Amino acid sequence: MSGPLFDRIALIGLGLIGSSIALAARRGTLAREIAGTSRSPATRARAGELGFLDHVADTAAGAVKDADLVIIGVPVRATGAVVREIAPHLKKGAIVSDAGSVKASVVRDVEPLLPDGVSFVGGHPIAGTEESGPDAGFAELFDGRWCVLTPAAKSTPEAVEKLCQFWTALGSRVETMSAAHHDLVLAITSHVPHLIAYNIVGTVSELETDTKSEVIKFSASGFRDFTRIAASDPVMWRDIFLSNKDAVLEMLGRFTEDLTALQRAIRRDDGQALLEMFTRTRAIRRGVIEAGQDTQEPDFGRTRGLHDADDH
Ligand code: NAP
Repeated sequence: MSGPLFDRIALIGLGLIGSSIALAARRGTLAREIAGTSRSPATRARAGELGFLDHVADTAAGAVKDADLVIIGVPVRATGAVVREIAPHLKKGAIVSDAGSVKASVVRDVEPLLPDGVSFVGGHPIAGTEESGPDAGFAELFDGRWCVLTPAAKSTPEAVEKLCQFWTALGSRVETMSAAHHDLVLAITSHVPHLIAYNIVGTVSELETDTKSEVIKFSASGFRDFTRIAASDPVMWRDIFLSNKDAVLEMLGRFTEDLTALQRAIRRDDGQALLEMFTRTRAIRRGVIEAGQDTQEPDFGRTRGLHDADDH
């Protein structure tokens, strides 16, 4: 029988994504040893207590020593600084990847910092929850979910293939595309929807106290689901919007035009326009279900409060 896919994996960042990768990699025996680190002593100590790593290093430089695969799971705009720190300590032949929700800016930040003989392949598991930190991780997070890899100038075909095998073994379905295309697609499937959730929940937070408590009391699935999404990590989402500025603004422009058309249809009692729009959107929903991205069950079959899968 062949051995694990990697001898040593290093995880930089031990939040929801880093801890879930460790747990899923352990489940599949994908490495002989999994090391990791996080910037704060508190997160490192908690990771030690939870025991999902073989070795908790004090520094990123220490964590990547002898690692064949390094995966960075920190807020997108912190990725460059992490790579600057680990670059001199990377083993020749190592594969470096990340889990960031935006890809073009990460590739742009990381590639110039890498030493020769090290491959970088951007990655984005399209799976997550609104929870963060090492306690939030679970081994099943990536099961049946997409992971997008974005090969670029510093990606060797062998590294892409190996990473593809890794994410498949973590439970994901893998697709490769350019970083720019990834960012455009995610802008409309994930980033703009999050902005809308932040905005609608923000609007409620500005309402006068009486109305606000009624909204909270009667929040049915619509508003309640927005509050769940708007509870996502503020730093992570600040970084996503600022790093994917062009694609988000492009999609937001289209969204605003369509919203104005809906506004006009309501003002003019144009029921036909509303019916046409709402019929087209039902077809999209059917497409999502047929693609295996959701189910017909109430609450999308989710166990409330547990692992609400989300597309970040
Ligand atoms: P998380 O649970 O909030 O964990 C963040 C990790 O990054 C922690 O280890 C934290 O360290 C570290 N960190 C924060 N700021 C840092 C900085 N300035 N420099 C170095 N390290 C820093 O986040 P996550 O949900 O795992 O997300 C990690 C990455 O995956 C992000 O790029 C995100 O876009 C992407 N992603 C997230 C999801 C999701 O649903 N959450 C899904 C797909 C991809 P300390 O705790 O020690 O401060």
